Amino acid sequence: MNFGIVGAGIAGLGAAIALRRAGHHVEVYEKSTFKREIGAAILLTPNANRILRRWGFDFDKARPVDFKQYRLLNATSLEILDRDGFEDVEERFGARMCAYHRVDLHSGLRELAEKAGATINLGAEVVDVKPEDGVVTLATVQTVQKDLWVLADGSRCPFLETISGEDNPTKKIGKSVYRWLAPMDKVLEHPDAKKLWNGQGAGFCTFSEPKAGITMVTYPCRGGTLLNCAVFHDTRVEEINAMDWNADSSHERVLQMLENCHEVVKHIPHTAEQMKVYTVTQRPPSKRIWRGRMLCVGDVVHHMLPTHAQGGCSALEDAAALEILFDASTISPNAGDLAKRLELYTQLRLPRSATTQILSSTNPWLTMEQVAKKTEEIRQFYEGNLVDWPKGLEPWSAPIREFFYGYDAVGEAEEAMKYRDGGRLPEGWKWFGEVDKAMEV
Ligand SMILES: Cc1cc2nc3c(=O)[nH]c(=O)nc-3n(C[C@H](O)[C@H](O)[C@H](O)COP(=O)(O)OP(=O)(O)OC[C@H]3O[C@@H](n4cnc5c(N)ncnc54)[C@H](O)[C@@H]3O)c2cc1C
Repeated sequence: MNFGIVGAGIAGLGAAIALRRAGHHVEVYEKSTFKREIGAAILLTPNANRILRRWGFDFDKARPVDFKQYRLLNATSLEILDRDGFEDVEERFGARMCAYHRVDLHSGLRELAEKAGATINLGAEVVDVKPEDGVVTLATVQTVQKDLWVLADGSRCPFLETISGEDNPTKKIGKSVYRWLAPMDKVLEHPDAKKLWNGQGAGFCTFSEPKAGITMVTYPCRGGTLLNCAVFHDTRVEEINAMDWNADSSHERVLQMLENCHEVVKHIPHTAEQMKVYTVTQRPPSKRIWRGRMLCVGDVVHHMLPTHAQGGCSALEDAAALEILFDASTISPNAGDLAKRLELYTQLRLPRSATTQILSSTNPWLTMEQVAKKTEEIRQFYEGNLVDWPKGLEPWSAPIREFFYGYDAVGEAEEAMKYRDGGRLPEGWKWFGEVDKAMEV
């Protein structure tokens, strides 16, 4: 079959690798020319790294940093407020928990997609879609027809409403993030920085400053040479429309925000060349994710808060499911066949991605009434066992790890394929693997 993919982010490149592995022709249309680097890192947990390993991803080249711990510090006194270890994560879940420079992850995925035989067209913006005909229009006015399109053009996808039939725009949550990458050798020039990082297991070193309402999350990437830094704060007026990852900010603004923090915390932004700002948005899950010959994946479907570092991981889970469910030897471009398989995909993926999305929107500072509401929301998508509240509110708690990291996207898809003739998963179905049982409390 001929597949078209809109967008070459994690979701689009993941889908390209998966669908080539499944035996299809794949052409990707990406509006950007990738000339501007995204200077940020991304953490992938075992549920995602397991998929990369299956695909033969070159980890050595990407040089991700394995996470061993989480530390929460008072940003003024540097007193340790909380600590948790990740030392057992790889053994428990059979894959790494590690942070990549986004560019390294993206390059590795692109290399894999091209090696597998996918064609990637850069500077190719899609401006219109006709789902029933399998046709998209490019900004050049050229139209392209495929048997099936995968829409992976991110959280601001303008075509979602056409596919889902719902008016479900992204909403700002009132928080923005100053972000930058700091050279680790320069960070360590401060004597107190040495105490914080030297001889410590890599991972999150998070600073909390409740008076100013800020949280500064830091973690290393690119073989430990760079420290990824993100200061979550209340959105300032001038940042309201900073919806692009590359919107500029300034050292002055960041330092103003860190005014009451310890000297070593203030030293970190000084070591970076550029400051960027990004205004955080979220969206509730869509109930319908395909129409005609088009399927939505990645942030188009499940744009979520970064609470559990699961947005990119979920995009890779989507791709893994595509590889199994759209195996070329089991599917034809006939519209009826496709509809049945797209429905099976929805039944498999939507409960998982919607639950992930809603859990990620449930931040620790919400009240318990809001948590009850979140459970009700999840119940519209998934009937299985859920994390026990309030323990499950802690982003790195044991139940949360079981829920996210224990999920085997390939295994789940293989089980789902046993039901492909009927096109429906069994009544009352919960996840096939261990995750559901592990959530029993
Ligand atoms: C602050 C922050 C921290 C995060 N941390 C983590 C983390 O640690 N771990 C994790 O797993 N996730 C994390 N995420 C989430 C993760 O970044 C996203 O879920 C993931 O990048 C989504 O990938 P995507 O491919 O769906 O979308 P995108 O990355 O947005 O890619 C979409 C692509 O489509 C292209 N495109 C857009 N429109 C068109 C068009 N009309 N035609 C052609 N191409 C188009 C874009 O140029 C882009 O290349 C974080 C998010 C934020 C905001």
